[in-house]
Amino acid sequence: MSGLIEKTIHCPYCAEPQTVLIDPSVPEQEYIEDCQICCRPIRFLVDVWSEDDASVQVQDENEV
Ligand SMILES: [Zn+2]
Repeated sequence: MSGLIEKTIHCPYCAEPQTVLIDPSVPEQEYIEDCQICCRPIRFLVDVWSEDDASVQVQDENEV
């Protein structure tokens, strides 16, 4: 799993912390993935700064 950035986010629905892995080869990413705890769809907005740092924002799916 080398080369991936590990980040902890909090689910916008249930607020549980969970770990996500970011691929730094794609500088801007937007995707939806179900929460590992409550299974609701979380929208991820990722900005990769460097090979080992990125910012991850999470939104609930209805917020846009
Ligand atoms: Zn959740």
